[in-house]
Amino acid sequence: MSKVAQSERTHIAFIGKRNVGKSSLVNKFIGQDLVIVSETPGTTTDPVKKAMELLPFGPVVLIDTAGIDDVGELGEKRISKTVKIISEADFALLVLDSQEKLSAQEKSLIEQIQKLELPFLAVINKSELGINFDLIEELNSHGIQHHSISCSTGDGIFELKEKVSKLLPSDEENTLVGDLIKQHDVIVLVVPIDLGAPKGRLILPQVQTIRESLDEDAIVVVTKDKELRAALNSLSHPPKLVVTDSQAIMRVNADVPDEIPLTTFSILMARYKGDLPEYVRGLKRIEELQNGDKILIAEACSHHAQEDDIGKIKIPRWLRLHTKKDLIINVVNGHDYPDNLSEYKLIIHCGGCMLTRKAMQVRIKHAKLVDVPIVNYGVAISYMHGAVPRALLPFGEAITAWQNLE
Ligand code: SF4
Repeated sequence: MSKVAQSERTHIAFIGKRNVGKSSLVNKFIGQDLVIVSETPGTTTDPVKKAMELLPFGPVVLIDTAGIDDVGELGEKRISKTVKIISEADFALLVLDSQEKLSAQEKSLIEQIQKLELPFLAVINKSELGINFDLIEELNSHGIQHHSISCSTGDGIFELKEKVSKLLPSDEENTLVGDLIKQHDVIVLVVPIDLGAPKGRLILPQVQTIRESLDEDAIVVVTKDKELRAALNSLSHPPKLVVTDSQAIMRVNADVPDEIPLTTFSILMARYKGDLPEYVRGLKRIEELQNGDKILIAEACSHHAQEDDIGKIKIPRWLRLHTKKDLIINVVNGHDYPDNLSEYKLIIHCGGCMLTRKAMQVRIKHAKLVDVPIVNYGVAISYMHGAVPRALLPFGEAITAWQNLE
């Protein structure tokens, strides 16, 4: 199986009531008994994820979820987790029982899916027990696509996989640098190896940028910030683009001649996963902050905080220095992203490299819904270090958003 990061895979959520066969269907997809299957309702408690190649589509993650009719206080928590999973998935399979009508819970789930504009397919399981024409008519009357299967006999499973492969949304046109460079262009990547750098490896945005550049047949030069001048001097032509870690932007901005385009990995990630113009608009709020305003700094994964941690220490320090205001700054990691955003005046989000694009988009959407401006680390750091608009120049939409702020 190809080594594709989970965040780059298309996420398919298996949802529905307890005991309709969600876990059995996941097992049928992957061809092994990953998920415990039991006749006892509610066996799946927390979402279970499994990466696989769904041919001919490609790399996906299957997510088995708790039943939407789970009971009790714990059940409610599981349901809210399931709803969160749905909002971040790229596609859903709503598993139904061929012997039942659509329940109130299933109807409200369908409403939620439609509100989120999430593409989905209804899968009618237990076809070996007979066809339920009323259910089929009900689904047809709501314009819901459906497919009948039997997890017991395996009937319809192969066809279902083929159907899902065709229905899955494709993200092919999304790129980090593919549209900025072409064959034989030289791209210089600045990767500081400091205490914050993970031992013995590069981080995902760096690896992805290298891979995309190679896919474009470009020439990749990777250097630390201290060797950047020497690297530039060694080239016979100026590079097409320099991309730096955000934390080195000040030094790199000074070392790279003005005529060479410059940006940061985090800004590339902002465009790839997030909404770069929206983040640029969010910069305006930095100038409007007042004493006592609450700021949310959000990191999409949990990592051990470093002594001079970017989210916990550096950004709060730079923000206070820049605004000269007494701010209340909350830092959250991983799954602790708050539901209630309205108490914040500004959200500063990490690049979100471990999130799917969909999940990052959902976070941006929620911020917009409650009217809280959002910026990402790269845009905010470059701005606070005087590298905006320069670091935005390679991106037309971002520059337009910047000019509209002025
Ligand atoms: S904190 Fe954000 S940008 Fe950094 S590694 Fe985690 S997900 Fe990626």
